[in-house]
Amino acid sequence: MDIGFVGLGNMGQHMARRLIEAGHKLYVFDTRREAMEKLVALGAQAASSPADVANRAETVMASLPTPDSVIAVATGKGGVIEGKLVKRFIDLSTTGSRVARQVAEALASRNIVQIDSPVSGGVNGANKGTLAVMVSGPKADVEIVKPALDIIGRVFVVGEKPGLGQTMKLANNMLTATALAATSEAMVMGVKAGLDPTQMIEVINAGSGRNTASVDKFPKSILPGTFDFGFATGLMMKDVRLGLEEAKALGVPTEVISAVGRAWELTCAEIGPEKDFTTIVQPVEKRAGVTVRARR
Ligand code: NAD
Repeated sequence: MDIGFVGLGNMGQHMARRLIEAGHKLYVFDTRREAMEKLVALGAQAASSPADVANRAETVMASLPTPDSVIAVATGKGGVIEGKLVKRFIDLSTTGSRVARQVAEALASRNIVQIDSPVSGGVNGANKGTLAVMVSGPKADVEIVKPALDIIGRVFVVGEKPGLGQTMKLANNMLTATALAATSEAMVMGVKAGLDPTQMIEVINAGSGRNTASVDKFPKSILPGTFDFGFATGLMMKDVRLGLEEAKALGVPTEVISAVGRAWELTCAEIGPEKDFTTIVQPVEKRAGVTVRARR
């Protein structure tokens, strides 16, 4: 099918590439020219704006960094809302349920359907097509796009209401953020007491402390000191803030996630929001006076 794709960053470039490789015709747009060139070299057609993408395809997907960028691309001037051909907008970004509902309402005024479709599984999952894809939207439209979403990862249809897919994603990312923050403190404690960090990870992964940070982020990016897992600290902070906002709006306690949010805020302030999210260990290391790096 013809698919428009806006936002070709860490995640979008892989998802768009996989759609091309599966035989779909892609119209792409990104504010960074070099991001578009990569996809054009693989057979995509470059568009000049989100509206231009939406003039050429009935289905438009977006993988954008922030809720504001999604609102602008979907409903702003030169946005998807102005497209002549577009029938459905699939948001693969993490924006929270409030923004999903806002975008859905604005697009509905032009008979464009909004489908929540945030993803989880990182750059590696995007590359391999193994993401968890959390979809909510009108059944008929979801059925039309499911074969394309199957190429990106495993599709979970969580409901029809706009925002439900986003709530699912925030619940997931509250846990990702917590696992990485908590594992950082546990690892720094062990190293300061004299344990070997590589062995600690082996033990944790054979025991009940096993989590996504101990399985992936520590072995791949923290122990080797590369800090290149592929997700920015600022984006993780955004997801934690959205999770907090969502929980508060629903009247759900936020003791744990509030504390986790403070660790991410500190990392944004001290290390920088543009740095990889695995740097969350660094403020803990600095205060303890040790580093958690592989010794062998
Ligand atoms: P990114 O910053 O690497 O990519 C975003 C892309 O959007 C960039 O290429 C940027 O140039 C482009 N862009 C920004 N504003 C634009 C605009 N107005 N018009 C067109 N293009 C624009 O971000 P990412 O890591 O790929 O994440 C994208 C989304 O996916 C985020 O919402 C993030 O929370 C979510 N996500 C990321 C990961 C991950 O591991 N990186 C995993 C799951 C979900």
